[in-house]
Amino acid sequence: MTQQLNGKYISLIWSKGMHKRKYLIVGNWKMNGTLESLNEIVKIDEASAQLDSDLVLCVPNTIIYEASKKITNTKLLIGAQNCHQEENGAFTGDISATMLKNVGAKMIIVGHSERRLECAETSNLVEKKASASIRMGLPAIICIGETEEQKIKGETETVVCSQLEDSMPDASNDLNTIIAYEPVWAIGTGKVPTLEDISHVHRRIRNVLKEEKGKDISQKMRILYGGSVKPENAKEIFSLEHVDGALVGGASLKADDFINIAKQA
Ligand code: PGA
Repeated sequence: MTQQLNGKYISLIWSKGMHKRKYLIVGNWKMNGTLESLNEIVKIDEASAQLDSDLVLCVPNTIIYEASKKITNTKLLIGAQNCHQEENGAFTGDISATMLKNVGAKMIIVGHSERRLECAETSNLVEKKASASIRMGLPAIICIGETEEQKIKGETETVVCSQLEDSMPDASNDLNTIIAYEPVWAIGTGKVPTLEDISHVHRRIRNVLKEEKGKDISQKMRILYGGSVKPENAKEIFSLEHVDGALVGGASLKADDFINIAKQA
C-alpha cells in the first residue's frame, strides 16, 4: 500500500495480512551546514535511489529552500528541526510550520532534547508544535528520552512514557507522526544503550502507542532510535523488532556515513 504525502510517497509493505514498517532514516544536521554543504545532499539524493528506506535530512532553516530544490529522488525529503506552535504573529526570530512548508520542508523534528533542555521546552509545548506541524500536513518527528541522571535513578520508562503521552497530539497517527527515542546521554557521546535496553524501551513505547491510538495505528507507527548511531552499530540496532529506523546527528553530516547507515536498514 502506498500513501501519498506532500507529493512524495511513504510506503507500507504488506505481507500475509501483516505489515512491516518501512525503515526511516532521519539526519539531524543541528546548527551545521551552509550553502556549501548542498554537495553532501546531492550525494545522498543520488544514493537514495538504490536504498530501500525512506530518508529525511533535517537541515538548518537557512538552506531548506535550496536543499529541497536539489532533490530529485522521491525517497529523500528535506525537513526542519523545530517550529513555532503558532502560524504567525509577533514572535521575533521564530519560524512557523507554515513558513517551513512554504520553503520546502516536508517533516519537522519537535521536542529534541537539546531544545527541551536548553530552551526549556515542555512536553506540553512540544505537543503544540507537533500539532502545528501536523495541521500543515508535515509529519512531526517527536523526540523523547531520559537523561543520564534519570537513567541512573531507574526512571527511564516513566520519563519516556510520560513524555510520549504528553507530547503526542490527539491527531497523531501512523501517517503524520514518527516517534524518536533518544536517550539524552547517548547523544553525541559515542555511548549507546545495550540492545536489550533499546529493545525494551521501544517495546514499551509501542505499548503506549497501542493504549493511546489502538492496535492498528500503533502497529504502523514508526519508532526511531537516536543517539550515537554510526555505520558500525546501525545494523544491530535496526535488527531489533520495534526499531524502525534512526535519528542520526553527527554521522548525518557526511554523505558517506549517512548512506552507510541507511544501507544497513
Ligand atoms: P548523534 O545525535 O547521532 O550525534 O548522537 C543524535 C541526535 O541528536 O538526534
